Amino acid sequence: MNAYEKARREFDRDRGNVAVKALRANRMEALLLEDKEEARQYLVNAIDREKTVAFGDSLTLREVGIFQALEERGQKVVNPFRIPGQDDIEAMYEVFNCYYYLTGSNAVTLDGKILCVDAIGNRVAPMFFGPKEVFIVAGVNKLVDNLEDGRRRIKEFAAPVNARRLGKGTPCTTLPKCADCSHETRICNVEVILHKKPRFTKVTVLLINESLGL
Ligand code: SF4
Repeated sequence: MNAYEKARREFDRDRGNVAVKALRANRMEALLLEDKEEARQYLVNAIDREKTVAFGDSLTLREVGIFQALEERGQKVVNPFRIPGQDDIEAMYEVFNCYYYLTGSNAVTLDGKILCVDAIGNRVAPMFFGPKEVFIVAGVNKLVDNLEDGRRRIKEFAAPVNARRLGKGTPCTTLPKCADCSHETRICNVEVILHKKPRFTKVTVLLINESLGL
């Protein structure tokens, strides 16, 4: 690791620790892990192998490799996004009856809030109602100062890049920015903020000291 990489890791770790403290003050569980291997192992250990696990569509979770790790040990999983580009509506409803829900986040604020934007809403609704335990996994690249910065991150970067990745045909796939469109395939229809722990749901935020997902 060169001097830049070392300094960057230290800087990101410090920011991550600020967010962890704030998330805990907002009554969510939170911890900072050094890399995706550590995160995968943490989840494998924390999840009861007898209980059902559902997944939200998340590039970060794919990079962590948790789908395969759980399936390989025989865990019952519900994954509406198993086949990319195909919406498995029945599985989306099944998610609400699972014990665990694993997903990513578009932004985590340094004052301890989770910000997500979604097209259908199925990826964000189980974060606050339905499954008993929710794990939100995010790289330190998702850290932002506050909600305003988070929304900017989504509109100026995450959503336009994601729309391009998914071939949505929205204005942001040709403009290098958001046009606040009304396109039928708009991916920014629902915004969810976890300000504090939802009453019936245990939420654990795993921050990873790496750049992961969008
Ligand atoms: S609102 Fe429309 S233009 Fe803006 S990021 Fe979302 S899909 Fe793209």
